[in-house]
Amino acid sequence: MSRRAAGLLLLTFFFLAPLHCRKADGGTDDPVAREAEDALVAYLRIDTSNPPGNETTGATFLRDLLAKNGIPARLVGDDPRRQGVYARLAAPGSKEKALLLLSHIDVVPADGRDWTQPPFGGVRSGGYIWGRGALDIKSLTIAQLMALVDLKRRGARLRRDVIFLATPDEELGGVHGTRALLEKHPELFTNVGFVLNEGGSNETAVDRVLFWGIEVQQKLPLWLRLTATGPAGHGAVPPGDGGAIAHLLRALTKVEALEHPYRLDPSVARAMTAASALRKDARGKSLRLLTHEPLDVQAIETELPPGYRTLLRDTVAITHLTAGSAVNAVPRHAVAELDVRLLPNSTPDDMLASVRKAVGHDAEVEVLLSSNPVPDSPASGELFDALTRTLHAAARRAAVAPIISAGTTDSRYFRARGIPSYGFSPFMLNYYDADGVHGMDERIRAAFFGEGVGVMRGVVREVCEKR
Ligand SMILES: [Zn+2]
Repeated sequence: MSRRAAGLLLLTFFFLAPLHCRKADGGTDDPVAREAEDALVAYLRIDTSNPPGNETTGATFLRDLLAKNGIPARLVGDDPRRQGVYARLAAPGSKEKALLLLSHIDVVPADGRDWTQPPFGGVRSGGYIWGRGALDIKSLTIAQLMALVDLKRRGARLRRDVIFLATPDEELGGVHGTRALLEKHPELFTNVGFVLNEGGSNETAVDRVLFWGIEVQQKLPLWLRLTATGPAGHGAVPPGDGGAIAHLLRALTKVEALEHPYRLDPSVARAMTAASALRKDARGKSLRLLTHEPLDVQAIETELPPGYRTLLRDTVAITHLTAGSAVNAVPRHAVAELDVRLLPNSTPDDMLASVRKAVGHDAEVEVLLSSNPVPDSPASGELFDALTRTLHAAARRAAVAPIISAGTTDSRYFRARGIPSYGFSPFMLNYYDADGVHGMDERIRAAFFGEGVGVMRGVVREVCEKR
């Protein structure tokens, strides 16, 4: 998930999960949680930075962990260096739709020089488990895996198949991961009726959750590359038009000047209406700003945190620049990359046309990743209702409501096929720890991890086990 998405999901504190005893030292008495913690530490030590990915080492680790627990699992995918891992616990004779537990193996790169602990050290220190992927999203993968192990160990009688799939390449759009598997290996997804994936949030105060957000829709990624070209030559005799870098700067200035007015997307209005109706606090009042037109722009700008404001307009971020190799040489090419995020009901065509028009002859525009609108996953129905029940049991009085994510996940590939897909985070997260997502010092509080493992187990039992 993107950092921007994480920004939206930051408002997360403590909740009291009656599922486990939390010891005074912040550890846990739950043997499964301890086992999960050991697995997470070992998994965090595997470097699956994308690029380049190298997810196969992670996939092999997960496959072996499943196999050790008596669950047959196999590597999947066409690139030997970029495998996913897949396991299916079957419910013989069941006519129910299967539940897919989805996560990704890759992580964004980390520069260890900026970190307090080594990013691939899997260090336990100060009540935390440290490492790239501790929040995004190796912790979720281990929680999902342990939920499967729990069913297997107890010999649970299943009323539906439950599938575990951890994929490569999510961080760079999932084209070589989930999308490729769906297109080339549809048999893996036979009878899948629901997907539980990353992307949810919880928002809590002091010692309890106020709000669980189940992600049902997200903004759409449109990733663009601008390439400017000009004559290469000596810096002492520059071209009259300034050369490639000057072209690129002109193009980027015009892109920066594009206006992205606030507008209310129907998916955002729906989710915020549901969320604000459940909340009697100040946040509920500010969420009502996102439910109706005309939009109160002044209140939006003063009352809403940036993470919510971004749900009211398309955004364009210049995220990557490359040009030149020496102070005295004019380069032939200059390249910039743009991370555009569109409101859920937008098609990429309008934005692409405005960027192309702004850039004019100063640069070529290439589309790196694009997505068309997909339907919201319904904020009701079997899986959503089961999530609501389980979360109410875990944290009484907490509201459970649909949310829209500013970031993107592989859920959009399932939504495009009409398969409800829910972003769900079982873990509490302190706001001051959340910057670790795609940032420095990514870490998860060990106690919250253990509790989240229990929450995930509860959800999977509720949805998949015969009563
Ligand atoms: Zn992620």
